[in-house]
Amino acid sequence: MSRTVHQEWIGKTDDTPVPPHVRLRVFERFKGVCCECGIKIRGRRWICDHRIALINGGENRERNLGPIHEVCDRTVKTPRDVAEKSINNRVRMKHLGITKRNGRPMPGTRASGLKKRMDGTVERR
Ligand SMILES: [Zn+2]
Repeated sequence: MSRTVHQEWIGKTDDTPVPPHVRLRVFERFKGVCCECGIKIRGRRWICDHRIALINGGENRERNLGPIHEVCDRTVKTPRDVAEKSINNRVRMKHLGITKRNGRPMPGTRASGLKKRMDGTVERR
């Protein structure tokens, strides 16, 4: 066994920060190209991004990491992760039967098809 063989880094918890040498490995694995826009990072600020966001069930481990521009994170990646999260929530809620009912109108609204007159009687619209 060669001692240059490295093991994949796995964060102990989701909050464990990526150590500098892993950051460097991730950067080299992607040849310094941003995962979001495909442009070389060069001297610009970049972050080690979780390709599947932690909020969406991604793991805090090396194989889920990729380099992206800080700018791309702010403008592209994070907003999309948040959007994906709300979709996931909606799907999960649906599975649990917590969906908004369609077809039963809220009482007292125009959609109910009934109209309450000033004298208290109710009539159909
Ligand atoms: Zn980028």
